[in-house]
Amino acid sequence: MIIKKNKSTDPNIVSAGYRFRIYPTPEQEVFFAKHFGCTRSLYNHFLDLRSTAWKESKESVSGFACKRMIPGLKKDFDWLKECNSQSLQQSVLELEEAYQKFFDKKLPNKYPQFKRKHNRQSFTVPQHFKTRISKSGNFLLNIPKIKSDIKVNAHREIPGKIESLVISKAPSSKYFVSFKCLIDKTELPGKKNIPFKEIGIDLGVKDTIVTSDGVKVSNKRHLERSLRQLKRQSRRLSRKKKGSKNRKKQRLIIARLHEKISNQRKDFLHKESFHLVNENQVIYLEDLNVKGMMKNKRLARHIAGAGMGELSRQIKYKAGWRNRQVHQIGRFDPSSKMCSTKGCTYINSDLKLSDRVWVCLECGTVHDRDINAALNILQIGQDYARINACGEYSQCSGSQEPDQAGSLNQEPVLIET
Ligand SMILES: [Zn+2]
Repeated sequence: MIIKKNKSTDPNIVSAGYRFRIYPTPEQEVFFAKHFGCTRSLYNHFLDLRSTAWKESKESVSGFACKRMIPGLKKDFDWLKECNSQSLQQSVLELEEAYQKFFDKKLPNKYPQFKRKHNRQSFTVPQHFKTRISKSGNFLLNIPKIKSDIKVNAHREIPGKIESLVISKAPSSKYFVSFKCLIDKTELPGKKNIPFKEIGIDLGVKDTIVTSDGVKVSNKRHLERSLRQLKRQSRRLSRKKKGSKNRKKQRLIIARLHEKISNQRKDFLHKESFHLVNENQVIYLEDLNVKGMMKNKRLARHIAGAGMGELSRQIKYKAGWRNRQVHQIGRFDPSSKMCSTKGCTYINSDLKLSDRVWVCLECGTVHDRDINAALNILQIGQDYARINACGEYSQCSGSQEPDQAGSLNQEPVLIET
């Protein structure tokens, strides 16, 4: 079965996700719980069916065949009838999509996994939903099979046309709705006509983002504070008796902290990537070997925390939305070790990771390690681009492909906040 991805073929239309908190009534919470449960059990049922069929008789069951089995299952299991049938079908499609990703070698190591009750819960509503503003100014959402309206905390305007929506419950027990929107590129927020500007960016460990303009931005202070809290609360959890109410309460505290850390990280990365794409027409990045660097255990926690892979992914897709260029320079250009002063060719081969400042032995310039690297990335990038224009060199390429390996978030859609 070929899955129709709802991607528009119009190059001027982009698809983006907008997530809002919702506040369900107790009755709606029960309704959601039913949907989470039914879609999850269908997903797991068909995953089991397909795996066993393959293991026992090398028989492959298509997603389409699974979809046709739903009415039969409804006869056997009455509780399935209480759910929106389109949401049920959607969970079968989701499984098919997970299989496709595995077969297409996009995620070659990820065979579809069973969904667990304790993780994030969600179901999709592909059609027949309505949104309206109440007399008192509240943003209300109505979905099939439930009469009452759901209250949405619409803290920002939703641009474009809403195509579908996902209702989810985070491990912190908060509920959210994600609207998948189709937006015309011209309606996207951001500056339209800016003077031509190029920038080189070094994604570092100490300061997350360092630009060739000499600007350093870091998210470290906030994150460290939350991480310290997380450590303390995790210790408390280990002292609580297994199966007790207090342990359950402590779990929730930890889930909320995890959510906070993830939000702090996302907020920082989205703001910075938007800012960089907004102010510059051409962006030069280092082609980070994130996976290779993660193998170095001492660096791994810092890199994962800094979200370097995620940042370059965001810069790439946001640049694509606004017709800006992103170029990545080769992995083996010595951007940190080279002196960035014009005309100087000194390479400091003794430079250690712990050296934050160094002096060029040839021209005497005092270099800040990261700013020097950013300046070099800009220069190397510009050189490549110039050679590229003559058609002689092709190492540096503008890329808008989402970087799967570097992606740290597991959202179903791109969330721009
Ligand atoms: Zn020098």
